[in-house]
Amino acid sequence: MKPTIALVGRPNVGKSTLFNRLTKTRDALVADMPGLTRDRHYGHGKVGDRPYFVVDTGGFEPVVDEGILHEMARQTLQAVDEADAVIFIVDGRTGITPQDKIIAQRLRESQRPVWVAVNKVEGMTRGVVVADFYELGLTEPTAISASHGEGVRELISEVLERFPVDEESAEADHPKFAVIGRPNVGKSTLVNAVLGEERVIAFDQPGTTRDSVYIDFERNDRHYTIIDTAGMRRRGKIDDVIEKFSVIKTMQAVTDANVAVLVLDATQEVSDQDARLASFVLETGRALVVAINKWESADEIQRDRIKREIDRKLTFLDFAKFHYISALRGQGVGDLFKSIDQAYHAAMIKIPTPKLTRALQLMVERQQPPLSGKIRPKLRYAHQGGTNPPVVVVHGNALEQIPAVYWRYLERSFMTMFKLQGTPLRVQFKRGD
Ligand code: GDP
Ligand code: GDP
Repeated sequence: MKPTIALVGRPNVGKSTLFNRLTKTRDALVADMPGLTRDRHYGHGKVGDRPYFVVDTGGFEPVVDEGILHEMARQTLQAVDEADAVIFIVDGRTGITPQDKIIAQRLRESQRPVWVAVNKVEGMTRGVVVADFYELGLTEPTAISASHGEGVRELISEVLERFPVDEESAEADHPKFAVIGRPNVGKSTLVNAVLGEERVIAFDQPGTTRDSVYIDFERNDRHYTIIDTAGMRRRGKIDDVIEKFSVIKTMQAVTDANVAVLVLDATQEVSDQDARLASFVLETGRALVVAINKWESADEIQRDRIKREIDRKLTFLDFAKFHYISALRGQGVGDLFKSIDQAYHAAMIKIPTPKLTRALQLMVERQQPPLSGKIRPKLRYAHQGGTNPPVVVVHGNALEQIPAVYWRYLERSFMTMFKLQGTPLRVQFKRGD
């Protein structure tokens, strides 16, 4: 399992600083592709081989305003509610404050496991600083310095210890796709349209309301799992309350899937939330198919608008296939499956080292990496470092001098040469031999 950890605390205690540290834990060699939009509030990281999600709740002002909780506090409470664990950050330099006590009270009520992190303690005597915070009545406080990185690894390891380790076998040998999108785009309708025709093999009741529903089914004798983030609003149950949209639920579903199906509404503009979901999928490296739904009811103006907006706001999804569908009428669902199959196979492809190396040599022949001063990076050979997304590890010298444009050129060339449609592909560089 990949637990979700919410960072909670009053403003200025160091939540963002800790968030940045916790989400910056990738392999030193694996630099990120530059130019991606990032959502500051949601991220993922790893300690050793243990992955996790982090949510920066942005600030908890538990001021009760005429009986109504501040909007920020409300959002924080939702994040706490959806998280598996909470790190409650307090400021070791200012000591305990009345606000801290109110937050502590709320966290106790939430019944989530809470770790108290006393921050900004570099250069201070730990035992003395933390003593103050026993009064919060939560677990034993841990001293950290988010900006200096002290105690952070220990803290996060301790949190992760509480959760079971993923078994490797959990990896699916068939397409397992998450249907995601903001509320009302037609996710439930699409899920129902898909399942209405097919043989459902198994149906997993969600453990809690925040979980997605997993359904195994067969289509044309092939096995699929659909991850329904809308939670299978039952057919005919019209007055079912509109689901609270949960980013965390969506992120977990995407991570757990090998393909994401992003549903957009053709009659609406492409919203920031659509773009955020899309960039999250890209960041996880999952394969992707985009379904623009309600096509039958979009007029000419709306159709033009959404196509224009996709070109402008979702350019980074150029590796994915786009389908114009009507879930309500069941139109386009068959083609959608073709793309899901294609994206799944592209994501899971295994290319032998000689083939990759030959392709690499061809790319270098066509276009050499640019000189950096007097040095020209040398690309020697390539092997595959992983699937879903396919990772190509390139070995050579002076690779840290390779500019982003050339990096991108390599990624694109691998994708076209091996005809990978529907999955991103990542190139990593490895120095030496
Ligand atoms: P947030 O409002 O809770 O997200 O807090 P920020 O992460 O923005 O940090 C607030 C201030 O505290 C910034 O000026 C940080 O540089 C500072 N800060 C964060 N962590 C530490 C730390 O470990 N030690 C010290 N001395 N300052 C820190
Ligand atoms: P969800 O919140 O994403 O699961 O969206 P729903 O499946 O509940 O659909 C929201 C609304 O859009 C409902 O009123 C559906 O009947 C409607 N809807 C879904 N798919 C289509 C479609 O293809 N065309 C039209 N015109 N309406 C649709």
